Amino acid sequence: MVSPVKRCITILGATGSIGLNTLDVIRRHPDRFSVHALTASSSVESMAELCHEFRPRYAVMADETAAKALSVALSDLTSVTVLSGNDALDQVAADAAPDTVMAAIVGAAGLPPTLAAVRAGKRVLLANKEALVMSGKLFMDAVVASGAEVLPIDSEHNAIFQCMPPDRIRDTGRAGITRILLTASGGPFRTHTAEALRHVLPAEACAHPNWSMGQKISVDSATLMNKGLELIEACWLFNTTPDMIEVHVHPESIIHSMVEYADGSVLAQLGSPDMRTPIANGLAWPERIDAGVPALDLFRIGQFNFERPDLERFPCLRLAAEAFDKGGTAPAVLNAANEEAVAAFLSGKLGFADIPVIIERTLAATEVVPADSFDTIFAKDAEARTVAREQILGLAV
Ligand code: NAD
Ligand code: MG
Repeated sequence: MVSPVKRCITILGATGSIGLNTLDVIRRHPDRFSVHALTASSSVESMAELCHEFRPRYAVMADETAAKALSVALSDLTSVTVLSGNDALDQVAADAAPDTVMAAIVGAAGLPPTLAAVRAGKRVLLANKEALVMSGKLFMDAVVASGAEVLPIDSEHNAIFQCMPPDRIRDTGRAGITRILLTASGGPFRTHTAEALRHVLPAEACAHPNWSMGQKISVDSATLMNKGLELIEACWLFNTTPDMIEVHVHPESIIHSMVEYADGSVLAQLGSPDMRTPIANGLAWPERIDAGVPALDLFRIGQFNFERPDLERFPCLRLAAEAFDKGGTAPAVLNAANEEAVAAFLSGKLGFADIPVIIERTLAATEVVPADSFDTIFAKDAEARTVAREQILGLAV
C-alpha cells in the first residue's frame, strides 16, 4: 500500500474549540500529519498538555507571562521551543517547515498571523472568518499573489466549497451557479420575542442548541451576526455578491449550505453538526479521511425545516449586509464594534439587545475610507473600538 503524503501543520489557536477539534482529527492519523507549532493566547495548562501529546517544534503563547509559565511546565521536553508575542505567531505561520496552517484564532487578533501564512504561500485552513471580513479584497489579493491555497473550514463555506466544481470556486459567474443558499441554525433565541431578547444572559447565549463553540462565536450565532460575517466571508471566498446569497434558517443544522445551478439542480452538503467534518475535509483535501464523526441518522432526524431570518429581531444580519455594500473599511468597523459589544455583553456590561445598537452607532460615527492597505484596516479597527467603547459606556447596564 502507498503511504499517504505526510502534511506538517501549524495550528494558530490550538487550545480553542476549532484547535482542539483539529488536534482530535490529527490524533487519528499519525501517519498523515505532524505538528510544527501550536499557539494560544494564555491557557498554559491546556497548552502544556497538548505539547506533551503532540511534541511540536514550537509552542507560542501570545502572552509573555504565560510563555514563561509554559517554559517551566515543559522543562522536561527539550525538543519544544517556547516563544512569545505576536511576531512569534507570524513566524510559526510563515516558517518553511509547515505546508498547512490552521487559522483558528478568534477575532481580529487572527488577521496578522493568518496573513503571514497566506503571504508564505501555505495551504491555509480558514476558520478565522473575522480576518477575511476585515480585509476582504486585500486578503484575497494576497492569496492570488502568493499562490496560497485557502480552504474554508466554516461549516457553511466548506459545504459550499464541496458543492462547487472543484476548479471553479472563484468563478461562480461562469459555473452556472444561480444562488448560494447559506443555512443558519437561528441560534438559541430563534423563537424569542423582542422583549424576551432584552433579558437573555451570557450563559444562555453561549448554550448553542446544535454546536459546541467558543464564547464569541456562540454569541455571534445568537445575534445572527455570525451569519452576517459569513455572508461577507462567502462573498470574498467565492467571488460573489450578497444578492446571490439567500440565508435559510434551518434549525436542525444538518444541511450546512447549498448551491443552486441554472438547470434547477440544488447541491447540498449534509452532516452531523460536528466541526471535525469540515476540518478533516480541509486537512486531507482532496482526499477523504475518518474524522471520528458518527454516521448521520436521517431516520432519527426525521424532518428538515426552513424559515426566513427575522431582520427586525436580529438586525445584525442586516447591518453586515449594509457594511459589505458600503465597502471600504465599513466591514472592519462592523467587526471591531461587534467584538467590543460581545466582550461587553459577556462581562455583564451590556444588554444582549444593545449589541446591534452599539454596532449601528459605531458604523454611523466612523468615516468609511477606501481599504487601500492593511495599515488602514488596523487603524480603522482601533478607531472603531474607541468609538464602540464610548458608546458602550453610554448604554452600560
Ligand atoms: P475559541 O475562543 O474556542 O478559541 C480561540 C483560540 O484563539 C484559543 O486557542 C485562544 O488561546 C486563541 N486566542 C484568543 N485570543 C488570542 C490572541 N489575542 N492572540 C493569540 N491567540 C488568541 O474560538 P473558536 O470557537 O475555536 O473559534 C475560532 C475561530 O474559528 C473564530 O474566528 C470563529 O469564528 C471560527 N469558527 C469557529 C467555529 C466553531 O465551531 N468553534 C465554527 C466556524 C468558525
Ligand atoms: Mg459557520
